[in-house]
Amino acid sequence: MSSILNADLHCHSVVSDGTLTPEQLAARASANGVELWSLTDHDEIGGQHRAAAAARAHGMKYLTGTEISITFAGHTVHIVGLGFDPDDARMKQGLADTRGGRGLRAREMSDGLAQVGIKDAYEGALKFVGNPELISRTHFARFLVESGVCKDTNEVFRKYLVEGKPGFVPHRWATLGNALKWITEAGGVAVIAHPARYGFTPNEEFALFSEFKAHGGRGVEVVTGSHSAAEAVRYADTAREFGLAASRGSDFHSPDESHTDLGQLPYLPGELTPVWDLLADRIQ
Ligand code: AMP
Ligand code: MN
Ligand code: MN
Ligand code: MN
Repeated sequence: MSSILNADLHCHSVVSDGTLTPEQLAARASANGVELWSLTDHDEIGGQHRAAAAARAHGMKYLTGTEISITFAGHTVHIVGLGFDPDDARMKQGLADTRGGRGLRAREMSDGLAQVGIKDAYEGALKFVGNPELISRTHFARFLVESGVCKDTNEVFRKYLVEGKPGFVPHRWATLGNALKWITEAGGVAVIAHPARYGFTPNEEFALFSEFKAHGGRGVEVVTGSHSAAEAVRYADTAREFGLAASRGSDFHSPDESHTDLGQLPYLPGELTPVWDLLADRIQ
């Protein structure tokens, strides 16, 4: 298929930290002209069968998806998996293990917020959670906006939820090697999500891309809701340098919070290999 395709291979439902159901996302993607879609919930594939069925009902092509949280060189990095078998036992167990630490982390986040006078944040965040195994910083952010502490979720992250702030709790996620093993052994392709977001030094970034390649990683998000136009150009160069295919996705979470809507982003630059060309036999 051509790189001129309205593919949106990154978004979130209520199964992780989005606010729409898989069915609502499919309807919205279809209305926005998406031709090839993937739901990529954080550390979860519980919405995959619903998403695939909804895509089919709207006449969209579909790839299974997830976005796995990993720890690399002391930083959290996100790896998108596409086109794997959604019933693969090892993938399911790996993701369940990755989700496992979120409950305790959330209670510690709540303790940190209590120390600066924000009470009962755990209980407050829980009201926004669609999947009890998947409480995330996003749910705390929604609670702090609802309770009037901040005007929007961006402000909550900046003031409370990033490293050095009272609600931040360091966490050890999956390893790069394990995440890539789960994805590739289940028949999928691994993609580095929104690389501009990590704030890596050039050396750290080189290490991430090199080790990702060495573990069988094959793609990188070039056009994403998290990248400026200049960052897309920069990571198009990185894709060429490392021989990686390019992916495209909005990272849509919510009509109220996301500035990039499903499918509404520039096409991939023509000279790159689109990641869907590696997945022709996995498209449903
Ligand atoms: P967690 O997996 O619990 O660490 O939460 C990570 C999620 O928080 C990301 O997937 C985003 O949805 C959200 N997030 C991270 N940084 C920001 C930010 N600056 N503003 C809004 N949402 C953010
Ligand atoms: Mn998220
Ligand atoms: Mn992400
Ligand atoms: Mn995401």
